[in-house]
Amino acid sequence: MHQCKALLIQCMDFRFMPGIREFLDQNNLTGDCDLVSVAGAIKSLVDPTAPAAEREFILKQINLSHALHETKQIILMNHLDCGGYGGSKAFATPEAEHERHQADLRQARDLIRQKYPELEVKLVLAKLGEQQHVAFETLD
Ligand SMILES: [Zn+2]
Repeated sequence: MHQCKALLIQCMDFRFMPGIREFLDQNNLTGDCDLVSVAGAIKSLVDPTAPAAEREFILKQINLSHALHETKQIILMNHLDCGGYGGSKAFATPEAEHERHQADLRQARDLIRQKYPELEVKLVLAKLGEQQHVAFETLD
C-alpha cells in the first residue's frame, strides 16, 4: 500500500504550474500528494449545467486517491481569471468573481464532506500576478 498525505484538485492551466510547485514545497507536499488537473478545477463538481460524466470523473479521482493512497486531506484549488469560468471578463466586478469561486469551493467542500466525512477539506483560491508569481488565499 502506497500512502500519501493529500490530494490536490487544480485547474489544468499551465500558468499556475510554477506557483503550485512552490505551494506544494511550502506545505511539505512535494512527492506526497496526488494531483488532479482539470479545466475549471472543481467547477464541474458543482455546476448544474456540467455533464454528469465530468462530475463523476472528479468524484472517481477522489475516491481512488482515498482508497488507494489513504489520503487524509483534499485541497480544492480554484483560480481567478479561469478560462473554465469564462475568465475574469465573465464577471461584473472582481468582487463578484471572488464570491463565485468562494461559493463554488464551499459547495464542493460540502459535497465531499457528505461522502467522506473523515477527510479534511482545504479551500484555496489562486491568483496569478507578475512574472508567473502566484498568490494563494486560503478560504474558510
Ligand atoms: Zn483555470
